[in-house]
Amino acid sequence: MTSNSDSVCRDVFVGGDWRAGGAGEFEVLNPADGSLVSAISDGTEADGTAAVDAAAAALPGWASTPPRERSELLRRTFELMLRDREELAALISAENGKALADARAEVAYAAEFFRWFAEEAVRSAGDYGVAPAGGSRTIVTHKPVGVAALVTPWNFPAAMATRKLAPALAAGCTTVLKPASLTPLTTLAIVRLMVEAGLPAGVVNVVPSKRSGPLVSTWLTDPRVRKISFTGSTEVGQTLLREAAGRVLNTSMELGGNAPFVITEDADLDLAVEAAMVAKFRGGGQACTAANRFYVHADIADAFVERFGAAIEKLSVGPAAEGHDIGPLISADAVADVSGLVDKAVADGARISHRATAPSGTGFYYPPTLLVDVKPDSAIVANEIFGPVAPIVTWTDEAEMLRMVNDTEMGLAAYVISGELGRALHISERIDAGMVGVNRGLVSDPSAPFGGMKQSGLGREGARAGLEEFLETQYFAVHWPA
Ligand code: NAD
Repeated sequence: MTSNSDSVCRDVFVGGDWRAGGAGEFEVLNPADGSLVSAISDGTEADGTAAVDAAAAALPGWASTPPRERSELLRRTFELMLRDREELAALISAENGKALADARAEVAYAAEFFRWFAEEAVRSAGDYGVAPAGGSRTIVTHKPVGVAALVTPWNFPAAMATRKLAPALAAGCTTVLKPASLTPLTTLAIVRLMVEAGLPAGVVNVVPSKRSGPLVSTWLTDPRVRKISFTGSTEVGQTLLREAAGRVLNTSMELGGNAPFVITEDADLDLAVEAAMVAKFRGGGQACTAANRFYVHADIADAFVERFGAAIEKLSVGPAAEGHDIGPLISADAVADVSGLVDKAVADGARISHRATAPSGTGFYYPPTLLVDVKPDSAIVANEIFGPVAPIVTWTDEAEMLRMVNDTEMGLAAYVISGELGRALHISERIDAGMVGVNRGLVSDPSAPFGGMKQSGLGREGARAGLEEFLETQYFAVHWPA
């Protein structure tokens, strides 16, 4: 293994070996100040093919490894992630910029996927039945899909990788993984822990690369690859779905969001603010589940804005290493996108009611901002903001509010805060979203099915469903003499 320091893996990982990528190196920069975190090996399509060679060679052995052994590898990795929690959190903060508290929470969340799927790996499920006409028996079983290509985004560099690796390995699949080129280091560090836990050669292969499109195309067109599991933008997801159609690949897609956050007139405002702060500002608003648009009942809007605004103004913004609540955005482009949406909303009549202060100078900072008098059809409501801005739309009529909430092609997460659980569930059932936080601002849980409706995705991660994404169903029709 080559590394800048003992704790940083920076190479392509293929067939159990760390090796230089064919395209030289690219740089990973800290978005807090633009400093170099590490130079990383840049993998090519040839590296991608070598990764599939290794994954295909390892598949028969891994698929037939007893589930208990697969489970124990995952369980050991869970424990090693917790042992190295601080180092991993520091690495996440360095390459992604998120606050250390958020990074620590991500490590714990990411590690839980290894524990959860260690437990699921040994719960093999099947069925045995008598055919209705008699004369035969039906035995239903499951087998690993095969070599799985995994592609992950930059906003949760640990959790998006473990949410795919753990169920894939639990199911008996082998994998080729491309982490986001902005944040490949955390994934490589986790894979190093998997090696320490006893990962057999070829079961996990990682190809960091700046050549995302060509590399992933190599995988999608390789007849040995049977599955693509992607997390990222809807736009790239659509491209991969089109490519995957060529070989009728098994696909799982975790795509963009545009989460509504609904507050009814009888809501407990302290609870609403607490949930809103989590749903909006975790990771600086750069979460697919981030509350993107707030629908606040007109009767309580002023009181909510006052309390929410006061909490926002208290947020400290700055480098994670200095212990701030909110870090930088991922890039200069991200800052330009967020400020463009805010400027447009203001030009259309919205008002900045509250704002925190953000550092000026180096680093990609945008100040946490509360926007009021936002038009329901404005661009900031219709688009995924992916930054620390909370636009408030008010409502009085529930049916009209629900129409606005569902007037989007996205359907990942939603939040409903209400004084009465029955009312909250009544509204939740009418929202077209895969996950609804009821009186809370966090929906992610490794034991629950994470995923979206409409253009937010296909399939689920976490829960039993996350394992099933990596399994094929097979049945045997067995002759049974009368
Ligand atoms: P992205 O789509 O730009 O990139 C995701 C991954 O795809 C990265 O590894 C990237 O290098 C790769 N990629 C980019 N172009 C590609 C191409 N043409 N072919 C193959 N691979 C390509 O997304 P991002 O900016 O990294 O992440 C932000 C987006 O991800 C947001 O829309 C967010 O909502 C979404 N997201 C969704 C979930 C979820 O679970 N639904 C979770 C996190 C993020």
